[in-house]
Amino acid sequence: MTRPAEPVAWPAGIQAAATLGFDMDAESVVLTVQPSSASRLSVMSHQAYGPLTGMPRILALLARRGVRATFFCPGFTAERYPDLLRRVRDEGHEIAHHGYLHESVAGMSAEQEAAMIDRGLEALEKVTGERPVGYRAPMWETTYATPGLLLDRGFLYDSSLMDGELPYELAEGEQDDARSLVEIPVHWALDDWEQYAYLPEVFGSGLIEDPEKALSMWSADLAAIHEDGGCFALTNHPFLSGRPARIRALDRLVAQMQELPGLWLAPAEDIAHHVRSLELAPRVFPQPVVND
Ligand code: ZN
Repeated sequence: MTRPAEPVAWPAGIQAAATLGFDMDAESVVLTVQPSSASRLSVMSHQAYGPLTGMPRILALLARRGVRATFFCPGFTAERYPDLLRRVRDEGHEIAHHGYLHESVAGMSAEQEAAMIDRGLEALEKVTGERPVGYRAPMWETTYATPGLLLDRGFLYDSSLMDGELPYELAEGEQDDARSLVEIPVHWALDDWEQYAYLPEVFGSGLIEDPEKALSMWSADLAAIHEDGGCFALTNHPFLSGRPARIRALDRLVAQMQELPGLWLAPAEDIAHHVRSLELAPRVFPQPVVND
């Protein structure tokens, strides 16, 4: 059955949660949507901005603010920038799975999707020595097979669905011992892609927004989700939000988070472990929506 998520009992003294997720797409997202761009040096340099320039700024911001975040990383990025991945790990952040080459699973078979997940897992484990517990689907594109494939591989949580602001347990069946996955929902409005992504002939709306506008939108949702006791899950991309004025806007947002009473700002895996400890009544995996 499909039902609304139960309110989440946050740890003592906590009113609401927030998590900063950085999707380390780098070159992979372009190579997937437009393989011919592999030979376009300027396009590749636009994506390399993330690992080369954005990431050091993001890591410095997090260190200065004493905040741990989650870095969702395609396997291809891990293989291309292994020292950067190990630095993220060594600075205490979570590294989670984000596909291999940032593939969209739309139209893929379950076998193809499984192979993509396995290839990404293998790359992350080889580079960091650790097996990730979290998954964020590239482009937030999932299938009805995705949760089961993640459970088969021991994942604790997913962060790709969009049906609320409260984390919940997503169960595989109605029986009491059904396996379940923690879901930490996301939304396009809490993603820097819609504000800043602009790469002619590749992707983007053609409009680059003012960081003040992005900050204003995100601050309003932060205040509302804090009031509601939800989980504010913000998604940023180092090649987008690592730019000078944008990183300053993000810094101000983190400052706002740290001033809100009872806001728990944590990596997604910490939030997922807490949700798991609550033994919430799960939702059952949704079935394909049929209009008949
Ligand atoms: Zn991505």
